[in-house]
Amino acid sequence: MSVDIKEYNSPNMPTWCPGCGNFAIHASLKKALSELNISPSEVFMTFDIGCNGNGADKINLYGFKGLHGRSIPLAVGAHLANRRFTVIADIGDGGCFHEGLDHLVHAVRANYDITILIHNNQNFALTTGQGTFTTKDEKPMYGLPQGRPERQLNVSQFILNLDPSLYARATSTDPLQLSDIIKQGIENRGCSVIEIMQLCPKYNKEFTPQWAMENIKKIESLEKYKEDSLSEANEILHNSSIYTGIIYRNSALKTFYERLHNRKDTISELVDEVKTVDINNLLKYFE
Ligand code: SF4
Repeated sequence: MSVDIKEYNSPNMPTWCPGCGNFAIHASLKKALSELNISPSEVFMTFDIGCNGNGADKINLYGFKGLHGRSIPLAVGAHLANRRFTVIADIGDGGCFHEGLDHLVHAVRANYDITILIHNNQNFALTTGQGTFTTKDEKPMYGLPQGRPERQLNVSQFILNLDPSLYARATSTDPLQLSDIIKQGIENRGCSVIEIMQLCPKYNKEFTPQWAMENIKKIESLEKYKEDSLSEANEILHNSSIYTGIIYRNSALKTFYERLHNRKDTISELVDEVKTVDINNLLKYFE
């Protein structure tokens, strides 16, 4: 038995451009949650500003949309308060690797038990296509018609250098694989970082379904690939093909709560404990 996928449907119509990868990402996420038998009332999802963030009211679950780049700390707060929720942070490459970069680093370092979905469409799409951390070198972008002067950085390498609990790469052109990866990310105990190469036909015209078909391979096609080997994961990043799948998994990594000694023997959640605190004396200060 799984939760009916329709339970995740929202009455609000999407506003994304035709062909936008966000459609496939939402469909894959709904499929993953439904197959994991997680009901909408058991999920807390955070969003920030961006085309991905415009999806906040297009899926039926508990959600919070915050400032640009702040999806991850919102998710961390929700997780710390109540571990009964499946917590997912939804963020674009602009928010994640610019304003939110420190949050990504600390979430991975602390190994909070959350799943981070990075919509990587290689630009700030909501504000009409400015260059981000992941835009190709010298590609002309809005406001920089002769190309962005800063270098593109390899985000996969960056994330792997943090030794995450799980790092996966997926593409919105393969929603079935994406859905399976999201399932594994949610089931993983620890911080799962899923980078999704996302179609943006408006401002990232080079990345097309055809290009993806010719250049992207599944990690399973590599015989004897070991997902628990950091050196193998680093090696395939320099391969001429782009691989999708679970690139790296460190199952031995303890989560934040497992390392938090002062709550080791506590079985209640912070959200329950707050309910029993009498704040009347505190409120008197505001009278
Ligand atoms: Fe999607 Fe790009 Fe359109 Fe935004 S601008 S809705 S990311 S296709």
